[in-house]
Amino acid sequence: MNDSVSSLMQTVVAKNPSEPEFHQAVQEVAESLVLVLEEHPEYRSAKILERMVEPERVILFRVPWMDDRGAVQVNRGFRIEMNSAIGPYKGGLRFHPSVNLGILKFLAFEQVFKNSLTTLPMGGGKGGSDFDPKGKSDDEVMRFCQSFMTELFRHIGANTDVPAGDIGVGGREIGYLFGQYKRLANEFTGILTGKGIHWGGSLIRPEATGYGAVYFAREMLATRGEELAGRTCLVSGSGNVAQYAVEKLIELGAKAVTLSDSGGVVHDPAGIDREKLDFVLELKNVRRGRISEYAKEFKGSTYTPADATQSTNPLWSHPADCAFPCATQNEISLADARTMLKNGIQLVSEGANMPTVPDGVELFVEGKILYGPGKAANAGGVAVSGLEMAQNSMRYNWQRAEVDQRLQIIMADIHAACVAAAERFGTPGNYVNGANIAGFLKVADSMLDQGLV
Ligand code: NAP
Repeated sequence: MNDSVSSLMQTVVAKNPSEPEFHQAVQEVAESLVLVLEEHPEYRSAKILERMVEPERVILFRVPWMDDRGAVQVNRGFRIEMNSAIGPYKGGLRFHPSVNLGILKFLAFEQVFKNSLTTLPMGGGKGGSDFDPKGKSDDEVMRFCQSFMTELFRHIGANTDVPAGDIGVGGREIGYLFGQYKRLANEFTGILTGKGIHWGGSLIRPEATGYGAVYFAREMLATRGEELAGRTCLVSGSGNVAQYAVEKLIELGAKAVTLSDSGGVVHDPAGIDREKLDFVLELKNVRRGRISEYAKEFKGSTYTPADATQSTNPLWSHPADCAFPCATQNEISLADARTMLKNGIQLVSEGANMPTVPDGVELFVEGKILYGPGKAANAGGVAVSGLEMAQNSMRYNWQRAEVDQRLQIIMADIHAACVAAAERFGTPGNYVNGANIAGFLKVADSMLDQGLV
């Protein structure tokens, strides 16, 4: 490890103990920035990177609520306001039992670079709770969301901090959160994105992250004169991002053959077509069931239960051309990455945040496959959130085709920015360096302009 990276990491690890995901995210960025910082003494003397790893503000709060049996439950709520150099804090809320400060700091840190890449004026933030919506009734989810917002509402605002959804926070949760905000603040304003279409939402927002990851893949393939049509694709997860990645793959003539949830993996060699995807949408978004039901419904498909004792995920062992990890962080282990390369994977476009372990990333980069890191490849979601904010400010709604067109342009611009930055700093084709550098420069220059704050 380079000396400057190693000294930064010593401080980060000492100041943020027991936060391995945050260390992982910072180290990857710091390694990409070595040449940039060598060339720019002004960033070094202003301690730009040292300031970027320190959140501007961390809010941690108690969320008490009552379950359907009348028992009191207590969860922990968080909001990390990481960086506001280029706009109001912006980033999702995650409700999942694994949520802790370190995971949210990693996500907030990544969000700063991602939002910068979108070309829109958004700073970076992230929040959530260790609350698990799985298995809870709608009433319980509503009571939890109302309690969560009762504290969060004083910290957010259309020009201050605008949260959105993430794992465990979809349209239902955003609705309950928005309703409580409106009641407390007595104003109807764009303080959340991912809103329902009749109350300030944007068309294409639910689809945006999954579509965006596929558009990014299309851009990467185009650099080699190739396209998605006819390609076999592995998709992990079966939530918001995975569902719309599959939808766009079907539209572009590719064949998605897998989906998963925390219970296990389904493999359908015939491909997930429109009818099968509709089954998944109903299963996951309405009945809130398990992906294992897919294999019972569709002949020829198989289900493999997850095995936490294994360091590999069977999903990644199926031969395919392209992979779209869309579940969660570190879901592709080093062994998985090896298997994927051995099986001839040519492209990985990350719908999830940091789904590949660092050694796996290194393998993909060294293997010279088209590897699009989450920061760039899944930026479509927050980009359309930015477009939702713009529409809210105008009090006007764009048509579906207009939002989709803007999303496609943004994904192409992000791709071009990554390619240019990677080339400019001597690592052509390395999208990891490209995304980190392009995302960093805009934020760093804005921080310099705004003085020591
Ligand atoms: P979601 O709708 O809640 O779906 C998450 C999916 O991943 C579910 O199938 C879930 O299975 C699975 N999953 C979650 N944690 C898991 C774990 N620890 N092990 C195995 N499977 C797990 O969430 P999402 O919005 O699609 O988000 C997926 C990923 O995309 C996350 O990394 C998120 O940060 C990233 N992302 C989302 C957006 C967005 O706009 N939503 C934008 C950018 C990036 P279970 O239901 O069994 O838990």
